[in-house]
Formats: sequence, C-alpha cells, structure tokens
Amino acid sequence: MNKERIPALFGSNVFNEETMAQYVPFEAMQAWRDCLKNGKPLTLEVANDIAEGMKNWALERGATHYTHWFQPMTGYTAEKHDSFITPAGSGKVIMDFSGKALVCGEPDASSFPSGGLRATFEARGYTAWDPTSYAFLKDGSLCIPTVFCSYSGQSLDNKTPLLRSVEAVSRQAVRILRLFGDTTTRRVTTQVGPEQEYFLIDKKLFLAREDLRLCGRTLFGAKPPKGQELDDHYFGVIHPRVSAFMQELDEELWRLGILSKTKHNEVAPSQHEMAPIYCDVNIACDHNQLAMETMKKVADRHNLVCLLHEKPFAGVNGSGKHDNWSLATDSGKNLFAPGSTPSQNAQFLLFLAAFIKGVDEYAELLRTTVACPGNDHRLGAQEAPPAIISIFLGDELDAVIDAVVGGTDTDYVDMKRRQLRIGVDILPHIPQDTTDRNRTSPLAFTGNKFEFRMLGSSQSISGANTVLNTIMAEELSQFADILENGNNFQEDLHELIRATFRDHRRIIFNGNGYDEAWVQEAQRRGLPNLPTAADAIPTYLMKKNVELMTRHGSFTESEMIARHEILIEQYCYVIRIEALTMVDMAQHLLLNAASQYTASLCDTIISKKQAIPGISCRVEEALAASVAHLNDQLLQESAALKSAVELAPTKTDEETLRYYYNEVFLRMNSLRAVADQLETLTASDFWPYPTYCDLLFPV
Ligand code: ADP
Ligand code: MG
Repeated sequence: MNKERIPALFGSNVFNEETMAQYVPFEAMQAWRDCLKNGKPLTLEVANDIAEGMKNWALERGATHYTHWFQPMTGYTAEKHDSFITPAGSGKVIMDFSGKALVCGEPDASSFPSGGLRATFEARGYTAWDPTSYAFLKDGSLCIPTVFCSYSGQSLDNKTPLLRSVEAVSRQAVRILRLFGDTTTRRVTTQVGPEQEYFLIDKKLFLAREDLRLCGRTLFGAKPPKGQELDDHYFGVIHPRVSAFMQELDEELWRLGILSKTKHNEVAPSQHEMAPIYCDVNIACDHNQLAMETMKKVADRHNLVCLLHEKPFAGVNGSGKHDNWSLATDSGKNLFAPGSTPSQNAQFLLFLAAFIKGVDEYAELLRTTVACPGNDHRLGAQEAPPAIISIFLGDELDAVIDAVVGGTDTDYVDMKRRQLRIGVDILPHIPQDTTDRNRTSPLAFTGNKFEFRMLGSSQSISGANTVLNTIMAEELSQFADILENGNNFQEDLHELIRATFRDHRRIIFNGNGYDEAWVQEAQRRGLPNLPTAADAIPTYLMKKNVELMTRHGSFTESEMIARHEILIEQYCYVIRIEALTMVDMAQHLLLNAASQYTASLCDTIISKKQAIPGISCRVEEALAASVAHLNDQLLQESAALKSAVELAPTKTDEETLRYYYNEVFLRMNSLRAVADQLETLTASDFWPYPTYCDLLFPV
C-alpha cells in the first residue's frame, strides 16, 4: 500500500473528533466535550445535532443502517441494525436519525445471558450511547458504542462495569495526587495495550473438522512429529499468505482508528500476534473486540480461519492476551513511571505499593477474570503463567523494596544503601525491561506498566481491567484516608509504604513460575492456587470481593450474583458442547473409520493367504488386533462420556460446575487419549479428518 495513504486512511471509518467538528454545529461539539470532560449529561437538543451530523457523515459513505453496538456478557459483541428509513407520506421515505435513537436503544434482549437479572416478562434491555467511544462504520452500518442494561438499570454487559471502575480509580488517584501537591489533574485514566495472539489455518481444513467448527479447538489429534521445539516459527519470516492477511488486517484496523502497531509470528506453528499502541482502557476494550472480529472477517477473505481459542491444538502453545496496564493523568503523566526526584519517586512507590497490596488481597478475584474453560489448558501448563497469581518486579525494584523495608541485606550492585528514605532518596535507575524479562510471571512490571499475562486470547479484556481498576481504587482510597488525616506527610508516607511492602511481599516472586518448587513455595506463603476455572469461579462471591466491588460502585451485589451464575453457566455449556462433539465425532466417524481399517486389514490377510499359502501376515494381524482393541475402548469411553453428560445435574450452581469438571471434562481426556492412539495406527486413507500435521504445517 502507498505509505502516503496511511494517514488519510487512518480513522476514515470513524466519526472521531476531527470529523465530528465538520458535521456537528460548534455549540453541540462544545456540549459534547463538556460531557466527556466533566461528565455533564447531553441534552436532547445536543443529541439531535450530533445524530444529524453522524447520519449525514454515514450516508455520504454509503451507510443505510445504524446499530447500537454493545458487549453482552457472552464476551462477544452484539448489534441489531435499523435502517435510517422513515416514511415521509405518499409512499416515500426519508433517511432519518434522531437524538433519541442515538442516545438510547431498546433491543429485545431476552436471549442474552443475564444470570437471572432480567425476568422474562421484562425482557427488554436498554442500550445507551457511550460518548467516550467514537461511532464508526462497519459493513454499511453506523455503529454506536453503547452500554447495555436491564429495565431496572442493572448492567448486562462488559462495558458498564469497566466505565464505572475507571471512574472509581480516577476519583481515588486524584485524591492521592492532591496530597503530592498536584492541583491541576482532574482525571486519571487507565491506559491499556492488549497484545492479541491468534492462529490462522486453512479454511478447507477447518471445515473438515467438526470440533473446530463447533468448539473452535481440536478435541482430538495425535501429536505431529514436529511441534514448536525448534523455535523456528517465533519471529520467523512471515509466509506470503499470512503476510497478505496481516496487511489487509492492518488496513482495516487503521480505517477503524485502531492503532495496530506490531505483528509477528508467535511460538507455535501457524500462531501469530498483533499488538496495538495503548490507549484509554474503554477504547482499548472496544478496539480489541473490533480487532478480534476483523481478524475473523479478513481471514475468511483469504480462505483462512482465525482461531482465537486459548488452546486450539494440544501439545503446542496456546494463545493469550497480554494486558499492558498503567494509570495516566489527563496531562499524560504515567503514574507508574519511576521519577527522577525524591518526591516523584515517593509517589511512584505509593502507587506501586497500592498495586502490590491490591493484588495480594484480591488475587482470587483477579483469577476469576481469566477463568474460562479454554484458559484452563494454558494456565499452569508451562506455556503461560501459572494459575497462582504473583507479581514480578525485577531485581532493581526488588532491591528497592528490600531497602525500604530495611534490615534485609541486598547485594544488588546499584542498590548500595541499606535503608531508603522515601521522599528523600533517589531510586536507582530502573530499566524498562527488554530481553531478560521474566516470561513466566502472571503480572510483570515492565518499566512503567504492568503486564497482566493471564488473559485468554478469546476473552474480553473488560473483566480483568474492571478488577485491576477497582482494587487500585480501593487501596488508593485507604492510603488517601491515612495520609489525609495524618499530621506529618513525609513520615506517614514513609511508614505507609514501608508497612505495605513488608506486609504484602509474599505476592512478589521473581523466580521461575514454571518451576514445580514454586507451587510448594506459594503454598507456604499462603497464596491462593486455583488451578482450574472450576476452582476459581466459586471464589468470585467471597465476601471481601463483593464488598470491594460494591464499595466502589463497579458492581451491585445482584450484578455479581448474576455474573457468578453466568460464569458457571458458560463453563458448563462449553464443556457440555465439547463433550457432545467428541461423542458425535467418535461415534459417527472414528468407530467407523477404525472398523473399516480393520476390515481392510483382514481382507488383505485373506487375499494374501489365498495367493501365497503360508505367507506371513504378522503386520496386518498385529495391526488389526491393536486397532480393534482400541476401537473397543473407544466405544466404551464414548459411551461413558455420553452418559456422564446425560446424568449431569441441571441446576446452575457450584455442584454442577464441579460435576462438569470431574465427571465430564476429565473423561474427555480419556476418550481423547484412546482416539489419538488410534489415529497413529490407522492408515491416513481411512482417517476421517485432517491431522495436526495437515493443520499446523500447511504446504
Ligand atoms: P512486548 O511486551 O511484546 O515487548 P511492548 O513493550 O512493545 O511489547 O508493549 C506491549 C504493549 O504495551 C503495546 O500495546 C504498548 O502500546 C503497550 N504499552 C506501552 N506502554 C504502556 C503504558 N504505559 N501503559 C499501557 N500500555 C503500554
Ligand atoms: Mg508482552
């Protein structure tokens, strides 16, 4: 593509501020800016002006419809399209779009998960424009980013709690900044850059596998002779077909104003990554949803399929999403950047202390934000962070903490002081980490931000960020309470930071998270270890979690109860669908394939013996016997799995969750083991679907 075109192309499908200014009257623009800056609600008059401008812009670009674009608790996005047409008498229509239609929509939402929040007689859901996120054009529709709530105002989506948590953390962070003499910052916002991993496979091969079509991952598949052991794919030369996909993806993302920046091959064969430049978390979340959707769409045009599942293939790395997270003031100052003066450093250490304390106190809650069946295949499996939450700070900051807490010897060269006085001393240089980073940590400090590495590739980033924001709000509010009421700020600050580091050091771990010894060590430290989603989800409603989220307004209690129910429901549904797909594939394809192969071997034996009496048929006999034996096992295992699903309890509660893990999921593994053995023995002509070799190493 012509390089000169990119700046013009960028954001061309977005009704951004600059475009808005061309289509919306000046006064309405000012009112909209005031709404963003000071949270003032928009009047209907202003909404009408903006709607008119939006419509004109969209019509000029060929749009015929508009849609409120929202993020229900499925983790995906939803849209219901209405055309702009309005009857104008005499059988004619005009294209119309009112402020009311912009600001509020009323989709019939009875089929979205609500965890019981919406009684069926009151099926309506409401969508309301989020004016902090620009409208955009997609497939001939004007898309308006919106929140989605029930008739009684309970949130039914992933955007609302995120926006609330952004407010909460901003409120508390500003209190802290005031204590450090900052009188100008009005807002603090969370900055997020999510790195997105994905797989690309050939569409024909994808369509040939029921498991990929229905579940987004392979439920069967023997290990190919080659995996990722040679590390020849990571950062490797990008295949022309993939490169063409990536170019078109970038172009589409740029049109949507998404700052797609980095692309490269990932560790596993056929695995890739896209990372945008960070921005406000609300926008980052919208953009990540759009990016995932665009990846799928663009892949399709290239006869590829983009797999966003956390673990499409056993035996090679799965896909995650690194959530790079920091806090910045409205003037763009990063609150996690170590400063160059004692006062800046003190402020940095206070934010750092708040983060450490929050993660230590609410590790279970953070763990639940990444709890989904797909992620269970990654976390703790030597390819992604362990399921135990800990923070990696690196040697330099660890030495600082030693020095602040005092008394502990540190041999780190740059940190010669034994006691660091906060607000008086300068910190040693803390490098932005580059190469020797710890890749095994769930939450790594990377110079001026935290990288939360536990998210699964298919997940919305909103849940994790809502929790990160809210725990930060909580700790900052506790700190502000103490510091606002003290009489010696320097002394109080020093003592607060020292005590916090001392009391919460257990969450800091700079070692190898893949090491078995860490599990023991974490247990000794009393850190929660919740290896599976079935272990994590029950902690969601712990009293401290509900108190935290309700205190800061991120959730109401009933919203949390609903979300807990949805987490369970979705876990059980996914496992159930996977199990039934396995049974279906085993019973409809595999049993028959193995039986046909056995029959063919037997035919060979008969014809060989007829042709040459006394000839050895040892190979055919041994193979036929093994295949027949395994096939018998396959029948038994698939029948057992089927009845396990049939006997599953139907109530949406923690007992059912446990059942699906213990009785269904674990059985799926046994069925798979048999099928995969069978695959290695069966001649390729007889095997009914593409193998790992076909899928991962296309010609
Ligand atoms: P990697 O982790 O692969 O080395 P980078 O260091 O380039 O990648 O950054 C990864 C992501 O972190 C990018 O999306 C980048 O924009 C984002 N990022 C960089 N600085 C910040 C920050 N201060 N706050 C939030 N995200 C950031
Ligand atoms: Mg990274």
